[in-house]
Amino acid sequence: GESSVSRRSNESIEHAPVRLTHPQKVLDDSSAITKQMLADYYWAVAEWMLPHIADRPVSLVRCPEGAGKPCFFQKHVNSMLPKGIGSVDIADKNGKVEPYITLNSAEALAGLAQMGVLEVHPWGSRNEHLEQPDRLVFDLDPDEELKWIEVAEAASEVRVRLKKLGLESFVKTTGGKGLHIVAPVKADHAWPEVKEFSRQFVVAMEKADPQRYLTKMTKAARKGKIYLDYLRNERGATSVAPYSPRAREGVAVSMPLSWAELKKMNERPLFQVANFSEWRERLKKDPWKDMETVNQKLNL
Ligand code: ATP
Ligand code: MN
Ligand code: MN
Repeated sequence: GESSVSRRSNESIEHAPVRLTHPQKVLDDSSAITKQMLADYYWAVAEWMLPHIADRPVSLVRCPEGAGKPCFFQKHVNSMLPKGIGSVDIADKNGKVEPYITLNSAEALAGLAQMGVLEVHPWGSRNEHLEQPDRLVFDLDPDEELKWIEVAEAASEVRVRLKKLGLESFVKTTGGKGLHIVAPVKADHAWPEVKEFSRQFVVAMEKADPQRYLTKMTKAARKGKIYLDYLRNERGATSVAPYSPRAREGVAVSMPLSWAELKKMNERPLFQVANFSEWRERLKKDPWKDMETVNQKLNL
């Protein structure tokens, strides 16, 4: 029957070598994922996820009672963190220095399950050059009533426009309702310049098609449109990591896609921690594998 099939495919998922209290604790009623499954998931995707989160400040979404229950963001280290979590000192606007969370190992990532971490959100810059981002992120926030196809088309338009500026880009689902388009860039411009570039980029899209796009945050004006959120590109901002779960009912994950497969998708795909065994094969052909080697810079 069905249960024996899923048991067989789950058997190939190795247990993470981390200590868990209450490993059978259910973290999401609708998908029945447990703390153990979450740890094993982080352990299994670490090789693909770490290149995008290692050696960057990260904010964690902790959900002590699971998804759909009260959760909170944690960005600073404290004494309760599991083994392998590091810290990076960052000064705020007033010069006050605080230790931020950073990690760079599969053990530390899997250890997050013990803390009930259901989302991982890196900065767009690395610890070694915090003031110069090496990622541009365009966050497409569609009004609920828009079709998936329209969001996918908007992502393709962002891609084409970036290409005209000499930038290759990569796309992922958010595990929520929209898409993120990410362009790696050489870290040689400071946050304010990159933010201004991003603002002008989305404003140009809005000017060209104001029926479709919107660049002001006003929720009311979003009806039937896609909000082009460029504010992921400012100092201290984050965006959810590829392969990160989301603390929403069903615990979908943010999934890197190839541009070719996005074009063929008629509906929003559903990749979850719970159905990991069904999509695990995807990891063999990581659509984001060229992100680290693409060598490009912003010409400002
Ligand atoms: P969706 O596709 O549903 O919009 P999303 O991850 O893009 O999913 P947004 O609300 O658009 O959700 O937020 C974009 C990013 O901004 C998030 O991935 C997260 O990193 C960051 N963010 C959002 N809300 C907060 C918050 N309250 N505190 C800190 N960071 C946040
Ligand atoms: Mn979004
Ligand atoms: Mn947003």
